[in-house]
Amino acid sequence: MIFSLVFLSSQAGATELCGKLAQGEIVFGKATPKSEVMLNGEKILTTEDGVFVMAFGRDDKKSQVLETDGEKYQIKIEPTKWNVQNIKGVPPQKVTPSDSDLEAIELERKLLRASLKGIKDLAAWRSGFIRPVDGRISGEFGGQRIMNDVPKNPHQGMDIAAKEGTEVKASADGEVVLAYPDLFYSGNVVVVDHGFGLQTIYAHLKEIKCQRGDKVKKGDIIGLVGKTGRATGPHLHWGASLRGIRFNPQSLLDAEEHQNHCRML
Ligand SMILES: [Zn+2]
Repeated sequence: MIFSLVFLSSQAGATELCGKLAQGEIVFGKATPKSEVMLNGEKILTTEDGVFVMAFGRDDKKSQVLETDGEKYQIKIEPTKWNVQNIKGVPPQKVTPSDSDLEAIELERKLLRASLKGIKDLAAWRSGFIRPVDGRISGEFGGQRIMNDVPKNPHQGMDIAAKEGTEVKASADGEVVLAYPDLFYSGNVVVVDHGFGLQTIYAHLKEIKCQRGDKVKKGDIIGLVGKTGRATGPHLHWGASLRGIRFNPQSLLDAEEHQNHCRML
């Protein structure tokens, strides 16, 4: 279980943050048990022992305001260098989505947005996180291409290349809040909610092996690697978000290690 170790050292009245205070990272904190924690003026959930979660988006620049035990802290976010490729001289091609494509894109947007709604007061994320499949990372979070000076959308997750049909595991305990076939970009997709607004997404699946509402344990098989939706080859697109802020899922894997990099505020 994560955080069972380091937080034992926490002193009463002190707030501690563990992780990198940088763009694209998730950070776990601990306040005095039962104290109210506010982030940017909004109350956020804490566990009984005072643990809370915050994340910084790829392009977050503004510092965040954290309030615990009646103390206010300004959290400065360090910039992260993202892999940006400038590609010039690409033959201009006109890609106008058809009406049916637009409808499909809109449906996907709605479903993904709806799955973000409702923050569960359940700290399933305390199981800790594992990589959902083994394999080479073929696309990193935050990467972006600029084609003929037109910036494309930055990559919102981590791509892991694996053979078609490889089993995909739930990266932590949680509940399946979306299991939907054949979306325009994501193909067959699963979203697992780990509580406190922390979710992971698994896209381009060949097959979905769970249903909406299923409670899953870390390591349970939820699908098979595929190339459905917009994918050129078989891989898993694994994404993570906290209260709607997308961050680098790698930082979930680093969380255990980050327990050794905590600071008192
Ligand atoms: Zn991807």
